[in-house]
Amino acid sequence: MKADKMIPTVVIVGAGFGGLRVARALRRAPVQVVLVDRNNYHLFQPLLYQVATAGLEPEEIAKPARAVLRGQKNFDFRMIEVTRVDFAAKRLDTTAGPIAYDFLVLAPGGETNFFGLASLQRHGLGLKDIPDAITIRNHVLTCFEQAMLEPDAEKRRALLTFIVVGGGPTGVEMAGALSELIRLVLVKDYPRLNIKDVRILLLEATDKLLPALPERLREAAGKTLWRKYVEVRFGATVADFDGRQAHLKSGEIIPAQTVIWAAGVRAAPLTATLGLAPARQGRIPVEPTLQLAGHPEVFIIGDAAYREQDGEPLPMVAPVAIQMGESVARNIARQLRGQPLEPFRYHDQGTLATIGRNAAVAHVFGLQLSGFPAWVMWLVVHIIQLIGFRNKLFVLLNWAWDYFFYERAARLITRD
Ligand SMILES: Cc1cc2nc3c(=O)[nH]c(=O)nc-3n(C[C@H](O)[C@H](O)[C@H](O)COP(=O)(O)OP(=O)(O)OC[C@H]3O[C@@H](n4cnc5c(N)ncnc54)[C@H](O)[C@@H]3O)c2cc1C
Repeated sequence: MKADKMIPTVVIVGAGFGGLRVARALRRAPVQVVLVDRNNYHLFQPLLYQVATAGLEPEEIAKPARAVLRGQKNFDFRMIEVTRVDFAAKRLDTTAGPIAYDFLVLAPGGETNFFGLASLQRHGLGLKDIPDAITIRNHVLTCFEQAMLEPDAEKRRALLTFIVVGGGPTGVEMAGALSELIRLVLVKDYPRLNIKDVRILLLEATDKLLPALPERLREAAGKTLWRKYVEVRFGATVADFDGRQAHLKSGEIIPAQTVIWAAGVRAAPLTATLGLAPARQGRIPVEPTLQLAGHPEVFIIGDAAYREQDGEPLPMVAPVAIQMGESVARNIARQLRGQPLEPFRYHDQGTLATIGRNAAVAHVFGLQLSGFPAWVMWLVVHIIQLIGFRNKLFVLLNWAWDYFFYERAARLITRD
């Protein structure tokens, strides 16, 4: 299935942050680019929690991969799932038959890590793709509808208790947004609701929120969450959840129908099929040039790749995937010209997390900001990074509407 015998084929697995960047950066290279993904879209995962909390519609944070790279002459897209890689034969097995490659870039991203807790995998709600976000939105809104019909006070309180597990950026943003959805919007939809029945808990197993941030910002984030009525608990590990009660490792039982699991990610399942020894979180160790050892024509990038820098593993975040994608495109071009490859070095631009309207924390370019200035910075950065003018415009309009009218447009309960 090679496009042209003379022109090398670069197959990229994954139209996420890393894969898309490679495809774009190779637009003028003398190669045929074949991008494959099991979905037909590129997803801006950092705003998934806003879909889950009825702030945005899915199509506002995603864009069809074909539309993103429309006009790129050496580009082809295929919506297929890759099931195996035969490195010796330079061939991918996919749901639509085999695909041969000259160069392969694996960028399949990650998946929710439930750390082997089967009950949480079954009853907890992960947040990794659009269907997860819609499931959370449906579930939260359904809990409110059921609470309105529930005569038993204890059962009603359990329906209105929302546990978010994990004090990283996703957990903090999710808890803050959930609180605002409930306290600013749903109170108006459910005027008979006793707001005192609502509880939002953010449970963190360690003793810190947002560990990548300096202490001052971590404290500011914690205080803001408390001000938004989120109960932040440290040293709180969820061990079991049956859909009715969350059991903590300490023995405490919290009656709740909702556990949103934001406690971890690991490499995508494809990495486990490669026959390669994984490092932490199932990520595959790569050479400094991001090549796979022994296979100079194979590169692994983004969440699926394991690489340490200054003694620390590179984080599973979008800028790492993007910068790796740029580096790989340059290295493929260098390899074609017979030049030595460049080692990859990550340039950390900082960390941002928002905790709702007018509230965020930012550690960028050595600056530590919190409150309104950090929130404005968060808004600007996310609008710039969203792909497509239409998405930028619609997200901006939605945010402005919600900001001024205390609304959430997308609070529909849709059937799966
Ligand atoms: C809820 C959430 C919030 C986040 N917030 C932030 C944030 O604020 N800032 C930040 O920097 N990072 C954030 N991240 C992390 C960031 O999204 C990831 O680090 C980044 O997406 C990794 O890029 P990637 O290219 O490695 O993979 P991804 O962007 O995940 O893309 C992987 C692609 O591969 C496809 N794929 C997987 N397996 C296969 C297969 N077998 N066959 C075909 N296709 C396949 C998937 O469909 C997907 O499109 C967040 C992640 C989540 C889930």
